Amino acid sequence: MFNDEQLERYSRQLMVDEMDLAGQEALAAARVLLIGCGGLANPAALYLAGAGVGQLVLADDDRVELSNLHRQVAFRGGQIDQPKAEALRDQLQTLNPEVDVRACVVRVDDAWLDEEVGAATLVLDCTDNFATRQAINRACVRHRRPLVSGAAVRLDGQLAVFDLRQPGAACYACVYGDGVDGDLACNQAGIVGPVVGVIGTLQAQAALQLLIGQSLPQRLQLFDGRRLDWRQVTFRRDPACPVCAAH
Ligand SMILES: [Zn+2]
Repeated sequence: MFNDEQLERYSRQLMVDEMDLAGQEALAAARVLLIGCGGLANPAALYLAGAGVGQLVLADDDRVELSNLHRQVAFRGGQIDQPKAEALRDQLQTLNPEVDVRACVVRVDDAWLDEEVGAATLVLDCTDNFATRQAINRACVRHRRPLVSGAAVRLDGQLAVFDLRQPGAACYACVYGDGVDGDLACNQAGIVGPVVGVIGTLQAQAALQLLIGQSLPQRLQLFDGRRLDWRQVTFRRDPACPVCAAH
């Protein structure tokens, strides 16, 4: 049950029919794993902490740099050179001390993912390289955890939800294949802050929807920041998928 201060803190979202007290309790009981603590995870984690998700686990082995601040909106100038996972944790605890936040300054590998994905309710992929994305997807398929995947480069963003709790759900590799080619990291290609912000914000909204028991369509959402335009591409499970077909 929630005390008066908690009811006040969450009062505006509790007014929304779909959220209600049962939804708030589901958020409080959830553990969300955010992998990558950059431009996607910054807004996503702020909203999830603000909304009262009970436990957040943040993983990143990078440090905050001056060139991150235009898009990684949770960080402050005084946090340059701090590990991103710890800097983000500190900001989230200031925002909402009710949330249990754990910072992991690690380069994630299969063993780490197996343990942490298995212990999580839901996973946000906020990384920027295909090898890690594929490893996260494999762990989510293995443990049947919903995966909310975001990506952004230059003026383009992508969002996809893989609710692997559902029988017949597609996985990341069903849509993108299981290759690791084609990395286009922000430090080479560039990125505009609000573009990555809009995708990270929607990752948080997708997570909230899934945590309160709503379902979301299997659609790749493509955002064009030049025209402020969205395109949707429906996807399906690939029966020959090298990752999920055997499960
Ligand atoms: Zn698959």
